[in-house]
Amino acid sequence: MSGLSAKRISGGGWGERGGPPNADRVRIVVGHLYPEYLNIYADRGNIAVLAQRAAWRGHELEVQVVSADDPLVPGAHDLLYIGGGQDREQALVARDLVSKRGAVLEAAAGGAAVLAVCGGYQLLGRFYRFGNGEELPGVGLFPHHTIAGERRMIGDILLETELEGERRTIAGFENHAGRTYLDADAEPLGRVVAGFGNDGESGHEGCRVGRAIGTYLHGPLLPRNPWLADWVLAQAIAHRTGEAPRFEPLDDQLEDEAHAVSSQRARARGGRF
Ligand code: GLN
Repeated sequence: MSGLSAKRISGGGWGERGGPPNADRVRIVVGHLYPEYLNIYADRGNIAVLAQRAAWRGHELEVQVVSADDPLVPGAHDLLYIGGGQDREQALVARDLVSKRGAVLEAAAGGAAVLAVCGGYQLLGRFYRFGNGEELPGVGLFPHHTIAGERRMIGDILLETELEGERRTIAGFENHAGRTYLDADAEPLGRVVAGFGNDGESGHEGCRVGRAIGTYLHGPLLPRNPWLADWVLAQAIAHRTGEAPRFEPLDDQLEDEAHAVSSQRARARGGRF
């Protein structure tokens, strides 16, 4: 089993602890939006994975909380992370988030990476409409809108995706009432192999705009999809240094097993209502 602090780069090279000595060390700054409200799906687990995988490569992840009334300075963060929350928590942060709309859009346009999960993914679209017709305005980073449905879409989910020409599967768990409708020309994060995805019908899941990705997958997402964690890290580093690194692979045996188990559960479940 791989230990937490002593992971081997597969193929050797840097020894037990992994990572380059010092020269290429990067401090990756993450802005974690509203962690005290949007955190119901072990979203901190995603940050922990990013921090550890960065450390194994000899880099450092600094996490700054950006909460209500905190300024968001475009360019200050290499990655913006926003997690999941229920309608009530979403309503509590929506007004503040909209006040940061310009900064979020400017940060993304400047090349910052964005990872948005579930409730956060909904709020980075144009709006979220509750069952009673009331709407929360969104940021408009992702070209979509979300409308709450009557039945929740819950269960293991498997996607097939392609990022930078590399085709992979992403496994996770979804739990949402919102149906997210992408604009016709929007790029989904992936195609649903098993599960519901954005709206239970289109066969699409998530959304990608440049270095920003939004998804309904949690569980948390990154521990069972280390490849995606590395993609996010590489995008964040590219914002800082101007170039996405080519990471040496890590020994991800445990992570790969988690991915396989999760994929299998999703496949066994099939999909759809
Ligand atoms: N409002 C969301 C829903 O569709 C909340 C999603 C989430 O983060 N659970 O249920």
